[in-house]
Amino acid sequence: MKTIGMIGGMSWESSLEYYRILNEQIKEKLGGLHSAQCLMYSVDFGPIAQLQHDNNWEELTRVMVEAGQKLEKGGADFIIICTNTMHKMAEEVGAGVSIPLIHIADATAEEIKKLGLKTVALLGTRFTMEQNFYKGRLAEKHGLKVLIPDDTDMDIIHRIIYKELCLGTILEDSKSEYLRIIEKLIDQGAEGIILGCTEIPLLVKQEDVSVPILDTTQLHAEAAVEFAVKE
Ligand code: GLU
Repeated sequence: MKTIGMIGGMSWESSLEYYRILNEQIKEKLGGLHSAQCLMYSVDFGPIAQLQHDNNWEELTRVMVEAGQKLEKGGADFIIICTNTMHKMAEEVGAGVSIPLIHIADATAEEIKKLGLKTVALLGTRFTMEQNFYKGRLAEKHGLKVLIPDDTDMDIIHRIIYKELCLGTILEDSKSEYLRIIEKLIDQGAEGIILGCTEIPLLVKQEDVSVPILDTTQLHAEAAVEFAVKE
């Protein structure tokens, strides 16, 4: 089994989910007492979130590249960045190491294509929804049409991620807001909803939504396990 290198802590609430899913999936595949062979470099998310909101992506890139290199030195065979937002610098992280990186948007797109969906909505941080590094990859590399919420709804989604979900706070009112926004996107033609922030699956579940949801935490962790056990 390959050693999975995780860049985590963004937030640790979702890194816990990754760790659980990786282990569950390995157990399912290999049985018995098997569990995921992995390393996690878990950052202090306080200063990271501050740098994001200060738009200091240069410093964030330096920190992420360094984290990847530390994982490689520690013996990781490949890397996963356990957050959608920080895939903004996935290319630089990949170029900074000599081991592969599994991109969360690619893992998600594979499932979307398997389901035969063409138009999907993307929920995530404002950085992920608005900028091109994520939806651009889905469109250009995978041929998908990507819808995003309007400006006011983007604010709501973003605020709930940083002020609640990343702090482990799960509120019914916030879930209702997310479901209202999801309904609007379905009315606009979304055939699937990408939960493109690794904490959103803590709030929204498949049974809450009438079209398929794409849980990026689950799909990314599953892709990592596939790769880890592949000969
Ligand atoms: N975990 C979130 C994501 O998947 C947000 C936290 C972050 O900014 O990295 O985008």
